[in-house]
Amino acid sequence: MRRKLAAGNWKMNGLGAALEELRTLATTPVPDNTDILICPPATLLSRAAEVAGHVAIGGQDCHANATGAHTGDLSAEMLRDAGATSVILGHSERRADHDEHDEDVRAKARAAWEAGLTAVICVGESLQEREADNTLDIIGGQLAGSIPDAATGENLVVAYEPIWAIGTGKVPTTAQIGDVHDFIRARLERRFGPGVGRSVRLLYGGSVKPSNAAEIFAVPNVDGALVGGASLKASDFSGIIDALS
Ligand code: PEP
Repeated sequence: MRRKLAAGNWKMNGLGAALEELRTLATTPVPDNTDILICPPATLLSRAAEVAGHVAIGGQDCHANATGAHTGDLSAEMLRDAGATSVILGHSERRADHDEHDEDVRAKARAAWEAGLTAVICVGESLQEREADNTLDIIGGQLAGSIPDAATGENLVVAYEPIWAIGTGKVPTTAQIGDVHDFIRARLERRFGPGVGRSVRLLYGGSVKPSNAAEIFAVPNVDGALVGGASLKASDFSGIIDALS
């Protein structure tokens, strides 16, 4: 049975004082069979890892190379060294702000695996693509292009994040979420075989809040959430974690 996962993406938010939220989460009981992951900005990784307790810590991006002349970048091994066990890759904000494409995400995922990190690979369509009825084609292309061949249930998590739902308060219907998650599951099973395909966790992301989490988590093939805004406060994120039980 797949473990549930509540993952928080703090994005470019959080100074040292934000670690109080993590300290609170670290002392909050977690439902059985559930993992919690917080991805703070890189400046907080080491300090976060020290106070996180049962909460796992992740990065928000990594470079595809292990070392070298890449000013401002961080390698997967550096994230690992700072206490991370996972890294978010291919978030739509990285794809848009840094012109990242599927092949970049794939190379980064290989680097993450090389360093022993789990890659949380994000896929998702724009509003225009949804309205043109191209959602599944887009998602299929992103899955094929972004995920390297050596995927397992331990080294890969896939997050379905419709771009138009991120930070907007707009959420797809549960039927729309279910359709995409079933599609992703089928694609993973076809490519990696039923064993691996059924063991990879699938997260939904986009305006998840305590008030809508239970409805979303009831959708088959939704194993948890990747949460932006509502992961910044322990009280909000705890409400989402509770909805997983
Ligand atoms: C995200 O950025 O991954 C995200 C899902 O953001 P929000 O929850 O704020 O929509």
